[in-house]
Amino acid sequence: MKSVIFIAPPAAGKGTQSSNLVDLGYTHISTGDMLREEIAKESEIGLVVKDIISKGMLVSDEIVFELINNKLSNLDKPFILDGFPRTIKQAELLDNLLNKLDINNYEVIYLDINSEDAMKRALGRLTCNKCGASFNKYYEALQPIQEGICDNCGNTLVTRTDDNEESFKVRFNTFIENTEPIIEFYKSKNKLHNVDATMDSFDITNKIKDILKWLVLKVIEK
Ligand code: ADP
Repeated sequence: MKSVIFIAPPAAGKGTQSSNLVDLGYTHISTGDMLREEIAKESEIGLVVKDIISKGMLVSDEIVFELINNKLSNLDKPFILDGFPRTIKQAELLDNLLNKLDINNYEVIYLDINSEDAMKRALGRLTCNKCGASFNKYYEALQPIQEGICDNCGNTLVTRTDDNEESFKVRFNTFIENTEPIIEFYKSKNKLHNVDATMDSFDITNKIKDILKWLVLKVIEK
């Protein structure tokens, strides 16, 4: 079973796609979630990264790599990497680690979306701090059944501190600046797959399953 590395602008749907795939037997590794957990715990790392994240800036390569190194080195299942690598330095650190762990069975999925669509998703996003589920007030199909309440666990939904217009613009620009070299890096390894992230969430999941060589049942029109 192939592991997955997502590369995507903010709010492209990495988290949603990860949760659509995780039941197939993957370990979901989200650097954003891990960093937000550190903030909630008020740990040493949490205190360092709190303001950086709210402003939409990138946390240092060393801090995120330490989190990733700990996770990947103790893994017995295929993984979904959501939010790492985000810089060419991180891509190189990851490559060295995967070589060391003798892991080459993975594909890189680039979720392609323009800044207007991504911004609409970010500004409407509502997240559950308890179970990690994500909803969106601007898309009917993604609204919670009861306003402000998580469908899965009943917790109160919140807006992330970095899901505001100012932070979003910083995050999107940071992504554009850092992406090109990462894309080239994985293209040259024959690992990169471009997926249109403006499609329906279910269609995106099917497309990804196709790439990962999962059997996708296609509906045959009569
Ligand atoms: P999104 O994809 O919507 O930006 P994430 O949850 O992936 O959300 O990341 C939230 C924030 O956490 C980022 O804007 C950044 O500040 C920090 N972060 C997450 N992953 C990384 C990383 N690999 N390198 C540096 N900072 C990161």
